Amino acid sequence: MNIAIVGTGYVGLVTGTCFAEFGVNVVAVDKDQAKIDMLRAGKIPFYEPGLEELVERNVREARLSFSSDIKAAVENSLVILIAVGTPSDDSGAADLTFVREVAASIGRYMNSYKVIVTKSTVPMGTGAMIRRVIEENQVMHRPFSVASNPEFLREGAAIEDFMRPNRIVIGAEDDQAITILKDLYNPLYLIETPIVITDVVTAEIIKYASNSFLATKISFINEMAGLCEAVGADVHQVARGMGLDNRIGNKFLHPGPGYGGSCFPKDIRAILNVARNCGITLRLMTAVSQVNEDQPARMVEKIKAAIGGTLEGKKFSFLGLSFKPNTSDIRESPALRIIRMLLAAGAAVRAYDPAAMDEARSVQTEIEYADDSYDAARGCDALVIATEWNQFRKLDWDKMKAALKEPVVIDLRNVYEPAQMIEAGFRYTAVGR
Ligand code: NAD
Repeated sequence: MNIAIVGTGYVGLVTGTCFAEFGVNVVAVDKDQAKIDMLRAGKIPFYEPGLEELVERNVREARLSFSSDIKAAVENSLVILIAVGTPSDDSGAADLTFVREVAASIGRYMNSYKVIVTKSTVPMGTGAMIRRVIEENQVMHRPFSVASNPEFLREGAAIEDFMRPNRIVIGAEDDQAITILKDLYNPLYLIETPIVITDVVTAEIIKYASNSFLATKISFINEMAGLCEAVGADVHQVARGMGLDNRIGNKFLHPGPGYGGSCFPKDIRAILNVARNCGITLRLMTAVSQVNEDQPARMVEKIKAAIGGTLEGKKFSFLGLSFKPNTSDIRESPALRIIRMLLAAGAAVRAYDPAAMDEARSVQTEIEYADDSYDAARGCDALVIATEWNQFRKLDWDKMKAALKEPVVIDLRNVYEPAQMIEAGFRYTAVGR
Protein backbone atom coordinates (compact mmCIF):
# COMPACT_ATOMS: atom_id res chain seq x y z
CA MET A 1 0.00 0.00 0.00
CA ASN A 2 1.17 3.56 -0.73
CA ILE A 3 0.36 6.14 1.89
CA ALA A 4 1.22 9.79 2.49
CA ILE A 5 1.57 11.50 5.82
CA VAL A 6 1.32 15.26 5.76
CA GLY A 7 3.27 17.02 8.53
CA THR A 8 6.61 15.61 9.68
CA GLY A 9 6.50 16.77 13.32
CA TYR A 10 6.55 14.39 16.28
CA VAL A 11 3.39 12.60 15.26
CA GLY A 12 3.87 12.60 11.48
CA LEU A 13 7.48 11.49 11.51
CA VAL A 14 6.95 8.75 14.09
CA THR A 15 3.75 7.50 12.45
CA GLY A 16 5.17 7.56 8.93
CA THR A 17 8.37 5.82 10.00
CA CYS A 18 6.53 3.14 11.96
CA PHE A 19 4.15 2.39 9.07
CA ALA A 20 7.20 2.08 6.82
CA GLU A 21 8.63 -0.36 9.37
CA PHE A 22 5.44 -2.41 8.91
CA GLY A 23 6.26 -2.68 5.20
CA VAL A 24 4.04 0.12 3.85
CA ASN A 25 5.44 2.60 1.27
CA VAL A 26 5.33 5.99 2.96
CA VAL A 27 5.98 9.47 1.65
CA ALA A 28 6.24 11.99 4.49
CA VAL A 29 5.36 15.49 3.32
CA ASP A 30 6.04 18.84 4.93
CA LYS A 31 5.70 22.39 3.66
CA ASP A 32 8.80 23.32 5.60
CA GLN A 33 11.50 22.78 2.97
CA ALA A 34 14.30 23.15 5.51
CA LYS A 35 12.82 20.28 7.53
CA ILE A 36 12.55 18.10 4.42
CA ASP A 37 16.17 18.89 3.48
CA MET A 38 17.28 18.01 6.98
CA LEU A 39 15.35 14.71 6.95
CA ARG A 40 16.75 13.86 3.54
CA ALA A 41 20.23 14.45 4.96
CA GLY A 42 19.47 11.87 7.67
CA LYS A 43 18.98 14.39 10.50
CA ILE A 44 16.00 14.29 12.86
CA PRO A 45 14.68 17.77 13.78
CA PHE A 46 13.93 16.78 17.42
CA TYR A 47 15.05 14.25 20.00
CA GLU A 48 13.06 11.03 20.24
CA PRO A 49 14.77 7.84 21.46
CA GLY A 50 15.28 5.24 18.70
CA LEU A 51 13.79 7.33 15.91
CA GLU A 52 16.98 8.18 14.02
CA GLU A 53 17.92 4.52 13.51
CA LEU A 54 14.40 3.61 12.41
CA VAL A 55 14.24 6.47 9.90
CA GLU A 56 17.68 5.60 8.54
CA ARG A 57 16.76 1.94 8.02
CA ASN A 58 13.45 2.60 6.31
CA VAL A 59 14.95 5.25 4.03
CA ARG A 60 17.78 2.86 3.13
CA GLU A 61 15.29 0.09 2.38
CA ALA A 62 13.30 2.52 0.21
CA ARG A 63 10.00 2.33 2.10
CA LEU A 64 10.23 5.87 3.49
CA SER A 65 10.88 9.10 1.62
CA PHE A 66 10.52 12.80 2.34
CA SER A 67 9.01 15.42 0.07
CA SER A 68 7.51 18.87 -0.10
CA ASP A 69 5.52 17.92 -3.20
CA ILE A 70 2.01 17.36 -1.87
CA LYS A 71 0.59 16.99 -5.40
CA ALA A 72 2.63 13.87 -6.17
CA ALA A 73 2.04 12.51 -2.67
CA VAL A 74 -1.75 12.83 -3.03
CA GLU A 75 -1.78 11.38 -6.56
CA ASN A 76 0.24 8.31 -5.60
CA SER A 77 -1.37 7.42 -2.28
CA LEU A 78 -4.49 5.50 -1.30
CA VAL A 79 -4.43 6.76 2.28
CA ILE A 80 -3.47 10.33 3.24
CA LEU A 81 -2.92 10.95 6.93
CA ILE A 82 -3.05 14.54 8.15
CA ALA A 83 -0.59 15.12 11.02
CA VAL A 84 -0.13 18.89 10.97
CA GLY A 85 -0.20 21.04 14.09
CA THR A 86 -3.46 22.24 15.65
CA PRO A 87 -2.24 24.91 18.08
CA SER A 88 -4.51 27.08 20.22
CA ASP A 89 -5.70 30.33 18.69
CA ASP A 90 -6.28 33.48 20.77
CA SER A 91 -9.71 32.28 21.91
CA GLY A 92 -8.36 28.89 23.04
CA ALA A 93 -9.93 27.06 20.09
CA ALA A 94 -7.86 24.65 18.02
CA ASP A 95 -6.53 26.59 15.03
CA LEU A 96 -7.40 24.46 12.00
CA THR A 97 -5.65 26.63 9.40
CA PHE A 98 -3.08 23.92 8.59
CA VAL A 99 -5.71 21.17 8.44
CA ARG A 100 -7.80 23.29 6.05
CA GLU A 101 -4.74 24.02 3.91
CA VAL A 102 -3.98 20.30 3.56
CA ALA A 103 -7.62 19.40 2.87
CA ALA A 104 -7.73 21.99 0.07
CA SER A 105 -4.56 20.55 -1.50
CA ILE A 106 -5.95 17.03 -1.26
CA GLY A 107 -9.12 18.14 -3.03
CA ARG A 108 -7.17 19.94 -5.74
CA TYR A 109 -4.93 17.00 -6.56
CA MET A 110 -7.24 14.04 -5.95
CA ASN A 111 -7.14 11.79 -9.01
CA SER A 112 -8.81 8.62 -7.65
CA TYR A 113 -10.56 7.24 -4.55
CA LYS A 114 -8.67 8.13 -1.32
CA VAL A 115 -9.11 7.75 2.40
CA ILE A 116 -8.31 11.00 4.20
CA VAL A 117 -7.46 10.41 7.84
CA THR A 118 -6.87 12.91 10.65
CA LYS A 119 -4.04 11.91 12.99
CA SER A 120 -3.88 15.45 14.31
CA THR A 121 -5.99 16.12 17.38
CA VAL A 122 -8.96 17.98 15.94
CA PRO A 123 -12.20 19.24 17.47
CA MET A 124 -15.47 17.46 17.00
CA GLY A 125 -16.88 18.28 13.58
CA THR A 126 -13.52 18.62 11.82
CA GLY A 127 -14.11 15.46 9.76
CA ALA A 128 -17.23 17.05 8.30
CA MET A 129 -15.29 20.28 7.62
CA ILE A 130 -12.56 18.34 5.80
CA ARG A 131 -15.18 16.72 3.56
CA ARG A 132 -16.61 20.15 2.68
CA VAL A 133 -13.21 21.69 1.93
CA ILE A 134 -12.16 18.77 -0.27
CA GLU A 135 -15.43 18.88 -2.21
CA GLU A 136 -15.09 22.63 -2.73
CA ASN A 137 -11.58 22.21 -4.13
CA GLN A 138 -11.98 19.06 -6.19
CA VAL A 139 -11.07 19.40 -9.85
CA MET A 140 -11.72 15.75 -10.66
CA HIS A 141 -14.84 14.70 -8.80
CA ARG A 142 -13.74 11.36 -7.36
CA PRO A 143 -15.33 9.62 -4.37
CA PHE A 144 -13.38 9.66 -1.11
CA SER A 145 -13.78 8.73 2.57
CA VAL A 146 -12.94 10.81 5.61
CA ALA A 147 -11.78 9.07 8.79
CA SER A 148 -10.41 9.95 12.20
CA ASN A 149 -7.58 7.94 13.69
CA PRO A 150 -6.41 9.90 16.73
CA GLU A 151 -2.88 9.39 17.98
CA PHE A 152 -2.13 8.57 21.61
CA LEU A 153 1.68 8.30 21.51
CA ARG A 154 3.75 9.88 24.25
CA GLU A 155 6.82 11.88 23.31
CA GLY A 156 9.87 10.13 24.71
CA ALA A 157 8.27 6.70 24.25
CA ALA A 158 6.68 7.37 20.88
CA ILE A 159 7.94 4.37 18.92
CA GLU A 160 7.04 1.87 21.62
CA ASP A 161 3.62 3.51 21.95
CA PHE A 162 3.02 3.32 18.21
CA MET A 163 4.23 -0.26 17.90
CA ARG A 164 2.42 -1.51 21.01
CA PRO A 165 -0.55 0.79 21.57
CA ASN A 166 -3.21 0.09 24.20
CA ARG A 167 -5.81 0.55 21.48
CA ILE A 168 -6.40 1.91 18.00
CA VAL A 169 -9.38 4.15 17.42
CA ILE A 170 -10.82 4.34 13.91
CA GLY A 171 -13.75 6.61 13.24
CA ALA A 172 -15.03 6.36 9.69
CA GLU A 173 -17.97 7.23 7.48
CA ASP A 174 -18.13 3.93 5.58
CA ASP A 175 -17.04 0.28 5.54
CA GLN A 176 -14.55 0.77 2.71
CA ALA A 177 -12.46 3.17 4.81
CA ILE A 178 -12.64 0.85 7.83
CA THR A 179 -11.43 -2.11 5.75
CA ILE A 180 -8.52 -0.12 4.31
CA LEU A 181 -7.46 1.28 7.69
CA LYS A 182 -7.72 -2.13 9.36
CA ASP A 183 -5.49 -3.45 6.59
CA LEU A 184 -2.99 -0.66 7.23
CA TYR A 185 -2.92 -1.58 10.93
CA ASN A 186 -2.84 -5.32 10.23
CA PRO A 187 0.54 -5.91 11.98
CA LEU A 188 -0.93 -4.52 15.21
CA TYR A 189 -4.13 -6.51 14.74
CA LEU A 190 -1.93 -9.64 14.67
CA ILE A 191 -0.59 -8.80 18.15
CA GLU A 192 -4.19 -8.48 19.31
CA THR A 193 -4.32 -4.72 19.77
CA PRO A 194 -7.94 -3.79 20.50
CA ILE A 195 -9.49 -1.71 17.71
CA VAL A 196 -12.36 0.62 18.55
CA ILE A 197 -14.47 1.36 15.47
CA THR A 198 -16.77 4.38 15.68
CA ASP A 199 -18.17 7.18 13.59
CA VAL A 200 -15.87 10.15 12.89
CA VAL A 201 -17.12 12.58 15.54
CA THR A 202 -16.99 9.92 18.28
CA ALA A 203 -13.37 9.13 17.44
CA GLU A 204 -12.59 12.85 17.56
CA ILE A 205 -14.06 13.18 21.05
CA ILE A 206 -12.33 10.00 22.33
CA LYS A 207 -8.99 11.76 21.93
CA TYR A 208 -10.09 14.88 23.82
CA ALA A 209 -11.87 12.85 26.50
CA SER A 210 -8.72 10.76 27.05
CA ASN A 211 -6.43 13.77 27.40
CA SER A 212 -9.00 15.53 29.59
CA PHE A 213 -9.11 12.55 31.92
CA LEU A 214 -5.32 12.29 32.19
CA ALA A 215 -5.04 16.03 32.84
CA THR A 216 -7.73 15.65 35.53
CA LYS A 217 -5.64 13.01 37.32
CA ILE A 218 -2.64 15.36 37.30
CA SER A 219 -4.53 18.37 38.62
CA PHE A 220 -6.25 16.14 41.16
CA ILE A 221 -3.00 14.86 42.66
CA ASN A 222 -1.53 18.36 42.58
CA GLU A 223 -4.47 19.59 44.67
CA MET A 224 -4.00 16.67 47.04
CA ALA A 225 -0.29 17.56 47.28
CA GLY A 226 -1.22 21.06 48.45
CA LEU A 227 -3.54 19.57 51.06
CA CYS A 228 -0.86 17.10 52.16
CA GLU A 229 1.55 19.99 52.72
CA ALA A 230 -1.04 21.79 54.84
CA VAL A 231 -1.86 18.80 57.06
CA GLY A 232 1.62 17.23 57.18
CA ALA A 233 0.90 14.12 55.07
CA ASP A 234 2.98 12.50 52.31
CA VAL A 235 1.30 12.66 48.90
CA HIS A 236 3.40 9.76 47.60
CA GLN A 237 1.89 7.42 50.14
CA VAL A 238 -1.51 8.86 49.33
CA ALA A 239 -0.99 8.20 45.61
CA ARG A 240 0.23 4.68 46.32
CA GLY A 241 -2.61 3.97 48.70
CA MET A 242 -5.09 5.19 46.10
CA GLY A 243 -3.41 3.79 43.01
CA LEU A 244 -3.38 0.19 44.21
CA ASP A 245 -7.14 0.29 43.83
CA ASN A 246 -7.68 -1.13 40.33
CA ARG A 247 -10.57 1.22 39.76
CA ILE A 248 -8.21 4.17 40.20
CA GLY A 249 -4.85 2.92 38.88
CA ASN A 250 -1.43 4.30 39.80
CA LYS A 251 -0.59 6.17 36.57
CA PHE A 252 -0.68 9.96 36.33
CA LEU A 253 -0.86 10.38 40.09
CA HIS A 254 2.55 11.99 40.37
CA PRO A 255 2.54 15.52 41.80
CA GLY A 256 4.70 18.21 40.25
CA PRO A 257 4.75 21.62 38.62
CA GLY A 258 1.67 20.89 36.48
CA TYR A 259 1.13 19.44 33.03
CA GLY A 260 2.65 21.07 29.97
CA GLY A 261 3.73 20.06 26.50
CA SER A 262 2.14 20.45 23.12
CA CYS A 263 -1.02 18.47 23.91
CA PHE A 264 -2.72 18.68 27.31
CA PRO A 265 -2.90 22.47 27.75
CA LYS A 266 -4.10 23.16 24.21
CA ASP A 267 -6.43 20.17 24.12
CA ILE A 268 -8.13 21.17 27.37
CA ARG A 269 -8.54 24.72 26.03
CA ALA A 270 -9.97 23.28 22.81
CA ILE A 271 -12.53 20.98 24.46
CA LEU A 272 -13.65 23.86 26.69
CA ASN A 273 -14.06 25.96 23.57
CA VAL A 274 -16.08 23.34 21.68
CA ALA A 275 -18.34 22.88 24.69
CA ARG A 276 -18.80 26.64 25.03
CA ASN A 277 -19.85 26.83 21.40
CA CYS A 278 -22.46 24.15 22.15
CA GLY A 279 -23.74 26.20 25.12
CA ILE A 280 -22.24 23.76 27.64
CA THR A 281 -19.91 24.62 30.53
CA LEU A 282 -17.51 21.81 31.37
CA ARG A 283 -17.15 22.75 35.04
CA LEU A 284 -14.76 19.96 35.90
CA MET A 285 -12.38 20.70 33.02
CA THR A 286 -12.53 24.41 33.82
CA ALA A 287 -11.30 23.62 37.32
CA VAL A 288 -8.65 21.18 36.05
CA SER A 289 -7.28 23.90 33.82
CA GLN A 290 -7.34 26.53 36.60
CA VAL A 291 -5.48 24.26 39.01
CA ASN A 292 -2.84 23.71 36.35
CA GLU A 293 -2.57 27.40 35.52
CA ASP A 294 -1.91 28.17 39.19
CA GLN A 295 0.64 25.40 39.71
CA PRO A 296 3.79 27.23 38.45
CA ALA A 297 3.05 30.18 40.78
CA ARG A 298 2.68 27.73 43.67
CA MET A 299 6.09 26.30 42.74
CA VAL A 300 7.59 29.80 42.72
CA GLU A 301 6.20 30.34 46.24
CA LYS A 302 7.87 27.09 47.26
CA ILE A 303 11.18 28.21 45.80
CA LYS A 304 10.86 31.59 47.48
CA ALA A 305 10.16 30.01 50.88
CA ALA A 306 13.10 27.61 50.47
CA ILE A 307 15.48 30.48 49.81
CA GLY A 308 14.38 32.63 52.73
CA GLY A 309 11.65 34.79 51.23
CA THR A 310 13.41 36.96 48.64
CA LEU A 311 13.89 36.11 44.99
CA GLU A 312 15.49 39.33 43.83
CA GLY A 313 19.23 39.03 43.30
CA LYS A 314 19.19 35.26 43.83
CA LYS A 315 20.54 32.80 41.27
CA PHE A 316 18.82 29.49 40.64
CA SER A 317 20.18 26.43 38.97
CA PHE A 318 17.58 24.56 36.90
CA LEU A 319 17.94 20.92 35.94
CA GLY A 320 15.54 20.15 33.10
CA LEU A 321 13.85 22.49 30.63
CA SER A 322 11.78 20.13 28.45
CA PHE A 323 8.19 19.58 29.56
CA LYS A 324 9.04 15.99 30.44
CA PRO A 325 12.06 13.66 30.17
CA ASN A 326 13.28 12.05 26.94
CA THR A 327 12.13 14.81 24.66
CA SER A 328 13.52 18.11 23.43
CA ASP A 329 9.99 19.55 23.34
CA ILE A 330 9.67 22.73 25.43
CA ARG A 331 6.17 23.74 24.33
CA GLU A 332 4.30 25.03 27.43
CA SER A 333 7.00 23.51 29.62
CA PRO A 334 6.32 24.19 33.32
CA ALA A 335 10.09 24.62 33.82
CA LEU A 336 10.14 27.59 31.46
CA ARG A 337 6.99 29.10 32.95
CA ILE A 338 8.58 28.99 36.40
CA ILE A 339 11.88 30.36 35.09
CA ARG A 340 10.08 33.32 33.49
CA MET A 341 8.40 34.13 36.80
CA LEU A 342 11.73 33.99 38.63
CA LEU A 343 13.38 36.23 36.03
CA ALA A 344 10.49 38.69 36.31
CA ALA A 345 11.04 38.76 40.08
CA GLY A 346 14.66 39.82 39.58
CA ALA A 347 16.33 36.42 39.97
CA ALA A 348 18.87 34.88 37.60
CA VAL A 349 18.83 31.34 36.20
CA ARG A 350 21.55 28.96 35.08
CA ALA A 351 20.23 25.79 33.46
CA TYR A 352 21.06 22.43 31.95
CA ASP A 353 18.92 19.99 29.98
CA PRO A 354 20.19 16.84 28.23
CA ALA A 355 18.24 17.51 25.01
CA ALA A 356 16.30 20.77 25.03
CA MET A 357 19.07 23.41 25.26
CA ASP A 358 18.91 24.54 21.63
CA GLU A 359 15.13 24.82 21.74
CA ALA A 360 15.27 26.77 25.01
CA ARG A 361 18.04 29.06 23.76
CA SER A 362 15.90 30.07 20.80
CA VAL A 363 13.10 31.38 23.05
CA GLN A 364 14.81 32.31 26.33
CA THR A 365 18.02 34.25 25.97
CA GLU A 366 18.18 35.54 29.57
CA ILE A 367 19.15 32.11 30.92
CA GLU A 368 22.81 31.10 31.33
CA TYR A 369 23.15 27.69 29.69
CA ALA A 370 25.54 25.23 31.36
CA ASP A 371 27.50 22.20 30.12
CA ASP A 372 26.19 19.67 32.64
CA SER A 373 24.31 19.37 35.93
CA TYR A 374 27.26 20.39 38.12
CA ASP A 375 28.25 23.25 35.87
CA ALA A 376 24.62 24.42 36.11
CA ALA A 377 24.86 24.50 39.91
CA ARG A 378 28.04 26.57 39.95
CA GLY A 379 27.64 29.63 42.19
CA CYS A 380 23.86 29.28 42.55
CA ASP A 381 21.81 29.90 45.69
CA ALA A 382 19.60 26.84 45.13
CA LEU A 383 19.08 23.90 42.81
CA VAL A 384 15.67 23.28 41.24
CA ILE A 385 14.90 19.87 39.71
CA ALA A 386 12.31 20.77 37.11
CA THR A 387 12.23 17.72 34.79
CA GLU A 388 12.92 14.17 35.92
CA TRP A 389 15.50 13.07 33.34
CA ASN A 390 17.16 9.79 34.41
CA GLN A 391 20.55 11.47 34.69
CA PHE A 392 19.18 13.72 37.46
CA ARG A 393 18.07 10.72 39.51
CA LYS A 394 21.49 9.85 40.89
CA LEU A 395 23.39 13.06 41.28
CA ASP A 396 26.68 13.19 43.16
CA TRP A 397 25.54 15.29 46.10
CA ASP A 398 29.05 16.00 47.42
CA LYS A 399 29.98 17.43 44.06
CA MET A 400 26.70 19.32 43.92
CA LYS A 401 27.24 20.80 47.37
CA ALA A 402 30.69 21.99 46.34
CA ALA A 403 29.26 23.66 43.23
CA LEU A 404 26.32 25.39 44.93
CA LYS A 405 26.68 28.52 47.01
CA GLU A 406 24.05 27.21 49.45
CA PRO A 407 22.96 23.56 49.99
CA VAL A 408 19.34 24.17 48.98
CA VAL A 409 17.39 21.80 46.74
CA ILE A 410 13.83 22.27 45.50
CA ASP A 411 12.74 19.00 43.94
CA LEU A 412 9.64 19.80 41.88
CA ARG A 413 9.42 16.20 40.60
CA ASN A 414 9.90 14.41 43.93
CA VAL A 415 12.83 12.44 42.56
CA TYR A 416 14.61 12.14 45.92
CA GLU A 417 13.72 10.91 49.39
CA PRO A 418 13.44 13.84 51.83
CA ALA A 419 15.17 11.99 54.70
CA GLN A 420 18.20 11.13 52.55
CA MET A 421 18.57 14.66 51.27
CA ILE A 422 18.42 16.09 54.77
CA GLU A 423 20.99 13.53 55.91
CA ALA A 424 23.22 14.58 53.00
CA GLY A 425 23.16 18.07 54.48
CA PHE A 426 20.68 19.82 52.19
CA ARG A 427 17.75 22.06 52.95
CA TYR A 428 15.31 20.08 50.83
CA THR A 429 11.82 20.94 49.58
CA ALA A 430 9.55 18.58 47.63
CA VAL A 431 5.93 18.70 46.44
CA GLY A 432 3.28 17.42 48.82
CA ARG A 433 5.64 15.70 51.22
P1 NAD B 1 4.48 19.62 15.03
O1 NAD B 1 4.23 21.05 15.18
O2 NAD B 1 5.69 18.99 15.65
O3 NAD B 1 4.51 19.23 13.47
C1 NAD B 1 3.55 19.66 12.57
C2 NAD B 1 4.20 19.70 11.18
O4 NAD B 1 3.20 20.00 10.21
C3 NAD B 1 5.28 20.78 11.03
O5 NAD B 1 6.48 20.19 10.59
C4 NAD B 1 4.71 21.72 9.97
O6 NAD B 1 5.69 22.29 9.12
C5 NAD B 1 3.80 20.79 9.19
N1 NAD B 1 2.76 21.47 8.41
C6 NAD B 1 1.94 22.47 8.78
N2 NAD B 1 1.13 22.82 7.78
C7 NAD B 1 1.44 22.03 6.72
C8 NAD B 1 0.96 21.91 5.39
N3 NAD B 1 -0.03 22.68 4.95
N4 NAD B 1 1.52 21.00 4.59
C9 NAD B 1 2.53 20.21 5.03
N5 NAD B 1 3.03 20.27 6.28
C10 NAD B 1 2.49 21.17 7.11
O7 NAD B 1 3.17 18.89 15.60
P2 NAD B 1 3.04 17.49 16.38
O8 NAD B 1 3.51 17.62 17.79
O9 NAD B 1 3.54 16.40 15.51
O10 NAD B 1 1.45 17.38 16.45
C11 NAD B 1 0.65 17.20 15.30
C12 NAD B 1 -0.76 16.89 15.74
O11 NAD B 1 -0.80 15.66 16.49
C13 NAD B 1 -1.39 17.94 16.66
O12 NAD B 1 -2.75 18.03 16.37
C14 NAD B 1 -1.20 17.34 18.04
O13 NAD B 1 -2.15 17.79 18.96
C15 NAD B 1 -1.37 15.87 17.76
N6 NAD B 1 -0.71 14.97 18.72
C16 NAD B 1 0.55 15.27 19.16
C17 NAD B 1 1.17 14.39 20.05
C18 NAD B 1 2.54 14.71 20.57
O14 NAD B 1 2.97 14.05 21.52
N7 NAD B 1 3.28 15.65 19.99
C19 NAD B 1 0.53 13.21 20.48
C20 NAD B 1 -0.74 12.93 19.98
C21 NAD B 1 -1.36 13.83 19.10
